[in-house]
Amino acid sequence: MKKVKKKVNKKGIWIIFIAFVVISLIVFLVSTLFIPKVSLIGPKEVVIKLDEEYIDKGAKATLRGKNITKEIKISGKVNNQKIGIYEIDYQIKKGLFTVIKTRKVEVIDDVKPEIVLKGDTKINLCPSKEYEEIGYTALDNYDGDITDKVVVKQEENSVTYTVTDKSGNTFTIKREIERVDNEKPVLTLKGNSTIYVEQDGVYNEPGYTALDNCDGDISNNVTVSSKVDTSKIGNQVITYKVKDIKGNEASVTRNVYVNHKQATIPNTVYKNSMIYLTFDDGPSNVTSQILDILKEKGVKATFFVIGASDSLDYLIKREKDEGHTVALHSYTHRYEVVYQSVDSYFDDLNKISNKVEKIIGESPKIIRFPGGGSNLVSTNYSKGIMTILTNEVLARGYHYFDWNIDCNDAGGAKDRNEVYNNVVNNLSHNKTNVVLMHDFANNYKTLEALSDIIDYGLANGYTFANIDMSTPLVRHRVFN
Ligand code: ZN
Repeated sequence: MKKVKKKVNKKGIWIIFIAFVVISLIVFLVSTLFIPKVSLIGPKEVVIKLDEEYIDKGAKATLRGKNITKEIKISGKVNNQKIGIYEIDYQIKKGLFTVIKTRKVEVIDDVKPEIVLKGDTKINLCPSKEYEEIGYTALDNYDGDITDKVVVKQEENSVTYTVTDKSGNTFTIKREIERVDNEKPVLTLKGNSTIYVEQDGVYNEPGYTALDNCDGDISNNVTVSSKVDTSKIGNQVITYKVKDIKGNEASVTRNVYVNHKQATIPNTVYKNSMIYLTFDDGPSNVTSQILDILKEKGVKATFFVIGASDSLDYLIKREKDEGHTVALHSYTHRYEVVYQSVDSYFDDLNKISNKVEKIIGESPKIIRFPGGGSNLVSTNYSKGIMTILTNEVLARGYHYFDWNIDCNDAGGAKDRNEVYNNVVNNLSHNKTNVVLMHDFANNYKTLEALSDIIDYGLANGYTFANIDMSTPLVRHRVFN
């Protein structure tokens, strides 16, 4: 029994073996004879960048040694504008058999986004101040505006901006902060930069403001060099200084002229609450409108005229006809001519005197020195000439007038408001107010301030008058 069983088993193995060989042979024959062979040309997986052109290398196919590549059908498309994985199928059908090979094409984005900073990449900041974000934008070639994805990291001396797009590309930019303060404070004087005080009078400091770019208002830190001693006649320079925390220093000066008391000037009567508006260096293209305003307000003034063009003579005539004082200033108004010598001064004065006489029929006796009696410019041409002239003109019967209020329209006054303030802030009921103004060409700031100055004076109990031979002389100290 055992022997028989063994025989049966051996036989079975043989049958299985032969069947296997036969089937394999059939499979081999069928596959080589009837199933096409397809193989890809180039790699099975391809990676391209956005916008890069995808060129398909294709596939080849054979059957029984015959090239049947032409029968391959290719399907699938690559969109190089869109990231992702695409499949290209190469399919061939022969009889009962269909063969498909697939290639994977991946479109990737490897371009970094970009961050654009508003403002500079290197900024200066006050040491004490906190950085306030100036702004930025982030753009990605694929994701578009990704500003909201920016990560901002702020440190003492820098701000770092980082952004990553959806494909993982990262961009970083830094803004550097330098902690510095190299800017001086701005020190501004209230009131005029030149102030006239009478001897033994009271000097009231008009004040000042100091503003610093980093420290803010530091007016309280201003130091003032000296007090004004009104017992001493002459110019006293006050120096104002201020430093910010970092030691940047600003300084300004103010000139205080201490003059002789008007009441002590001989042959004069002290006139309180009077305002004498005086206009130098005209006539010009603004004179006519100034006269219109004076006429409208019913106010008289004094014009210290120069040797302007003959075509403007009618304005001098009009000044006289409308009740103002036509007074003499200079024919040339050139310091190097006028103050060359005593003779050249009087030559110049006679010229303007003759011109005015021709126009109004009389030669004025009221005069003003170019630059005023206190001028220092004359020292360049003739030492001591003002000391001589100020006495000599009086001896020749002239009355000369300086001023005790300067509207500063020939100096620092920037606009009509400053002209206005320079006048009204310095008016006093306890003096004869002689106001220096100019009607030289294009002096619109004075023209524009005039009406309000007059209104202020009238509203505050002042009387406007034109200078005449009884007006108290208002004179500066003579320095040359
Ligand atoms: Zn002048």
